[in-house]
Amino acid sequence: MATIFTKIINGDIPSYKIAEDDEFYSFLDINPNAKGHTLVIPKKEVNKIFDLDEETYNGLMAFSYRVAKALEKSVPCKRVGMSVVGLEVPHVHVHLIPINIMDDMRFTKKEKLSHEEFVALAEKIAGNF
Ligand code: 5GP
Repeated sequence: MATIFTKIINGDIPSYKIAEDDEFYSFLDINPNAKGHTLVIPKKEVNKIFDLDEETYNGLMAFSYRVAKALEKSVPCKRVGMSVVGLEVPHVHVHLIPINIMDDMRFTKKEKLSHEEFVALAEKIAGNF
């Protein structure tokens, strides 16, 4: 069965898209730790990051680098933190999180954004990509 992220890639479930190419897709996390919390995923459906073939892994990191640069330009923060967990969604995803305090990297602290705020944020980050 397709993962929720494959459904997002296919447009069956909406997302606040940041960027995509033939192999990768990036969009805002719907339940962000901090404003601008973004996910980067390979279109290839693989559960665990270190099960990716090396080329896809390197491509994912290169794409994440570009998204992180766009995030730094778009969201005021001390730096962009990166994390890979994957305990909730079994489809490889890199978390890129604009952080100011350590708690921004903990998945217990959550930020509430309106639909309009998500749209404006995604447009801004996408514009800097
Ligand atoms: P993990 O699997 O690394 O523990 O976390 C999965 C992440 O995916 C969570 O931060 C969660 O908020 C996010 N997420 C789960 N379902 C959706 C969804 O349907 N849309 C978006 N944009 N993010 C989701």
